[in-house]
Amino acid sequence: MSHPLRIGISACILHPDPDRALFNGRQLQFLERSMADWVMRQGALAYLIPIPAADGPISADDLIIPLDGVILHGGADVSPGLYGEEPMQPEWGGDPLRDAYELGLVRACLARDLPVLGICRGAQLLNVALGGSLYQDITTQHPGALRHRDPSTYQRNHHEVVFPEGSSLSALYQTQRGRINSVHHQAVKTLGAGLVVEATSAHDGVIEAIRLPAASARDPFALGVQWHPEFQTDDEVALLSPTPLFDAFARACHARR
Ligand code: MN
Repeated sequence: MSHPLRIGISACILHPDPDRALFNGRQLQFLERSMADWVMRQGALAYLIPIPAADGPISADDLIIPLDGVILHGGADVSPGLYGEEPMQPEWGGDPLRDAYELGLVRACLARDLPVLGICRGAQLLNVALGGSLYQDITTQHPGALRHRDPSTYQRNHHEVVFPEGSSLSALYQTQRGRINSVHHQAVKTLGAGLVVEATSAHDGVIEAIRLPAASARDPFALGVQWHPEFQTDDEVALLSPTPLFDAFARACHARR
């Protein structure tokens, strides 16, 4: 009997804050509702993948056993220490706890051929997991770049992307250009081992999607997009539809199952 795909989503972390009255300032792990809703609207089951307890026997490898695929959630910066740099500003130091947790997840998925879809931070994390590096801050390190993150418009900040000829996204969308939302101040600088570029910003060449190509049918599906398909609403018809992207991920999940 067929059941819906079981998609695990990596958790965001809300660290203890003595000034926060709710939950007595304790640490929380959570999903944005938009992400869970996006997965469920496609007919798949959405589950939060908790951070393995530090003193417990359950590992990232164990947590992915029941899953058909994993989505890496957007959120905090990736720590520059992971690609051999010091933070240029104290606020760009990232979240080492979340990094360690998601690196464990990515490695477990790649080792078990479990499809991975990285969203925003998730794309950056995939790159760093394979030895790549990031711009800590696009505005500082890529003069002349677009404003890839605008706090006032947030997901309504849009720009054009170009899909390289022969890329899987150009095949998927049957076009070499599209419009996407942009809510990031970090971006891929040097590619991790084996990764290929799937999209660049049409205005400044900033890398907007990466993929680990399959060398054989047994290889995992691993794709990262810098944009947020889960933030899109039906009225944003000028943007690339998020549905083909999810469908490609779902096909890989079904094949893996
Ligand atoms: Mn962008």
